[in-house]
Amino acid sequence: MADTYDVAVIGAGPAGYPTAIRAAQNGLKVVCVDEWKNRDGSLAFGGTCLNAGCIPSKALLESSELVHRAQSEFAAHGIKTQGIAVDLATMQKRRASIVRTMTGGVAALFKAAGVTAVHGHGRLLSGRRVEITAPDGTRSEIAARHVVLASGSVPVELPSMRFDHQRICDSWDALEFDAVPPRLCVIGAGIIGLELGSVWRRLGSQVVILEALENFLAVADQQLAAEAARQFKRQGLDVRLGARVSGARVADGTVRVEYADARGSQSVTVDKVIVAVGRKPYAADLLAADTGVKLDEKGFISVDAECRTGAENVWAVGDCVRGPMLAHKGKEEGVAVADRIAGRYAHVNYAVIPSVIYTAPEIAWVGQTEEQVKASGTAYKTGVFPFSANGRARAMEAAVGFVKILAAGDTDSILGVHIIGPLAGELIAEATLAMEFQASAEDLQRTIHAHPTLAEALHEAALASDKRAIDNINK
Ligand code: FAD
Ligand code: NAD
Repeated sequence: MADTYDVAVIGAGPAGYPTAIRAAQNGLKVVCVDEWKNRDGSLAFGGTCLNAGCIPSKALLESSELVHRAQSEFAAHGIKTQGIAVDLATMQKRRASIVRTMTGGVAALFKAAGVTAVHGHGRLLSGRRVEITAPDGTRSEIAARHVVLASGSVPVELPSMRFDHQRICDSWDALEFDAVPPRLCVIGAGIIGLELGSVWRRLGSQVVILEALENFLAVADQQLAAEAARQFKRQGLDVRLGARVSGARVADGTVRVEYADARGSQSVTVDKVIVAVGRKPYAADLLAADTGVKLDEKGFISVDAECRTGAENVWAVGDCVRGPMLAHKGKEEGVAVADRIAGRYAHVNYAVIPSVIYTAPEIAWVGQTEEQVKASGTAYKTGVFPFSANGRARAMEAAVGFVKILAAGDTDSILGVHIIGPLAGELIAEATLAMEFQASAEDLQRTIHAHPTLAEALHEAALASDKRAIDNINK
């Protein structure tokens, strides 16, 4: 007879593994099945995020940022260096070791929580049975009271530019380059394009980024986007907007990328291309025909606001369902589903999900952009405070960017916070908490912030929304 569980989770990325752990914490018998295989053939839990996404990219962003700071900031501090050399092999060894530690950590978490963790491919059959194909091809079947699908996403491939993983690369390839490409073209000036473009630019590549849209960072507040464009240009990132890519020709070890923009047909010849034009949900061979689980027209698993698929006791969370493709969004959905399965109350506040782009300066936001607030017709006020007037940012030699807060004109409630500057990704947590607690700009104004800290910029932006900033002569 098939083993039976209370909960079977398919996928052990940042959506699936927290689902399994919370379900086990809730006293349920849990199995989590994951098929991830690294390029060296090793099996690992943690999904895209830990193996080929958030963690390795942040490791390389940190290393390459140190290179940049040593080259361009040390002198201002009065620190003399005699030439900075990059040892990419050591940098990549460090990245791989962080990934190994973190993915090993997921296995340890499963063990400690009592989750049965299985490497293999999971396929949902009718009646909440799951067929598992082990890495050696052996098949087995389990049954569960509840099944949670957390199969994640994969990169979008351009039909005119198929991945060969040598010259035409995806984001995973780009995290594992063993030499700095002298000339690099990134297709897509989205989050991956800007983060990985920054890594390789700082390590010495000449980087051209081709973006189809006319607007830079269209998802972000446009005041923030304009500042980001200015900073990236200064750093030597060559972002070309309105560029419609038509194809790529690989010859003699180089790639000629052809595109058209407002000036007509163009091309750029480089050593490698990174295609970063978005990710799409992944559900290959996940569902037998008679499960009752449906996919929408874009391939996402259809779910309601509480992640129910419509098939009895089958749920789906993370990148494979609607909403932003962010690790923390998937984690909250998974934890909420595990609590709902246990009969507990759970809620995910989709209106308050922070976004962070880990470039330098960092970019982070939560809530609505000014463009969205304007379009909604809500009366609003803005407060902006520049890091150039913040003592800690000056001391850090990082006094670029600003904090911008949007608050309702009548109730004063915070509608959105947008930060470009040092450690923006850390600073946004305070704004996120404030919005989660439905704070007003005045609540932030009346909260004591330690001096000198970067967080004072958020405090001052809140004051600026009522034209009462203390430390800025302009407002
Ligand atoms: P995944 O992480 O994709 O995990 C899904 C897992 O399910 C995988 O292990 C897969 O092998 C497994 N699986 C799929 N189908 C089956 C099956 N049938 N049987 C068994 N196993 C299966 N997000 C952030 O929030 N912050 C960041 O800084 C960030 N940086 C990123 C950088 C890069 C380069 C990339 C590519 C992404 C980044 N993301 C970041 C996005 C983030 O990685 C995803 O949002 C997140 O991993 C989604 O989690 P998930 O669990 O839904 O899916
Ligand atoms: P994205 O949606 O952020 O950006 C893709 C960009 O490519 C867009 O600007 C789009 O206009 C452009 N584009 C699309 N087709 C194009 C074409 N044919 N030619 C030129 N440009 C084109 O997607 P991404 O950067 O690939 O990232 C995928 C997902 O991973 C995102 O949803 C993001 O949420 C997640 N991610 C998050 C982080 C983070 O949180 N720091 C980091 C990396 C990735």
